[in-house]
Amino acid sequence: MKGAVLVVGGAGYIGSHMVRQLQQAGYAVTVFDNLTSGHRDAVGSASLVVGDLRHPADLAALFAPPRRFALVLHFAALSLVGESVVEPYRYYHNNVAGTLNLLAAMQAAGVGRLVFSSTSAVYGNPQRLPLDEEHPLLPINPYGRSKRMVEEILADAAAAYGLRSIALRYFNAAGADPAGGLGERHSPETHLIPLILQRAARLCAGETAAPPLQVFGADFPTPDGTCIRDYIHVNDLCRAHLLAAERLLAGACTGAEVYNLGNGAGYSVLEVIAACRRVTGRDIPFTVVARRPGDPPELVAAAEKARSVLGWSPAMPALDAIVATVWAWMEAGRGAQEGRGKGKSI
Ligand code: UDP
Repeated sequence: MKGAVLVVGGAGYIGSHMVRQLQQAGYAVTVFDNLTSGHRDAVGSASLVVGDLRHPADLAALFAPPRRFALVLHFAALSLVGESVVEPYRYYHNNVAGTLNLLAAMQAAGVGRLVFSSTSAVYGNPQRLPLDEEHPLLPINPYGRSKRMVEEILADAAAAYGLRSIALRYFNAAGADPAGGLGERHSPETHLIPLILQRAARLCAGETAAPPLQVFGADFPTPDGTCIRDYIHVNDLCRAHLLAAERLLAGACTGAEVYNLGNGAGYSVLEVIAACRRVTGRDIPFTVVARRPGDPPELVAAAEKARSVLGWSPAMPALDAIVATVWAWMEAGRGAQEGRGKGKSI
């Protein structure tokens, strides 16, 4: 068995995939989650402590001996761009104040290594593409600003206290792990690929009255007018976290490092719909509506730094293959509900 690690937000979409990979790699995993958007059954066999980053007493109990963590991976955050525009206080409270509480509790417990979930939303409207880590950080929504603030705090903490941290700036996490019984399960769902596939599933079930998918804006300065994003499979993201954790544990990270995680290929909303049509064989209807506040036109990663320093390379870069994992997971869930499948629907 390798060391004991803490996964904050380990009941959520990316966190639960991470827990599985850490366990497969031999780590003893404890999850801390407030279960507002995460799911108890997604934690699997890891030990679960239910608590909230906004409550220092919950964190003091979490870090109390005999627990001793070699490293913390921090996934817990509110992460919806549109919601952050209308509820900024809630975003700063959860994402910034909550993380400060976590850092203070880590310091009190003598835990000095952190892998932090950051985002491509820290860049704002691209001044050049693809986006490398040196691109100016000019976020255009409170979600991106909350993550930039934490990155700044981590740099200050490296200088003042010697905290070693790796912030991973994700582009668009997507995909599922049907073999592990894991997928994306937000309520309400707001993400593009699951929303499209939910409609395809309803068409498969014979429901023709479902409202069409809404495409948020077709007047962006992109070839087809819809937003371009770089979709990356959740297991590829998690493999990069594992490499980051190993770098921290080996003592190779000497400050606050940042890495982009993306495939380096951008797909427009219409191209994602086309991929979902290919995978499902369904003609998914959509309608173009107004832009969603806070959406930059194009976000595509340059992830050479993660490749060269962390030794990371994505195993599933093709969009159709990523979509197919989500569709397989949804089909397995439907099968389980109908008493056909073996797996549970998460
Ligand atoms: N999008 C859309 N309709 C939807 C949901 C999303 O057109 O119902 C667009 C959204 O504007 C963005 C892209 O799809 O350009 C990806 O959005 P998502 O919410 O999945 O991820 P985000 O980029 O916000 O992290």
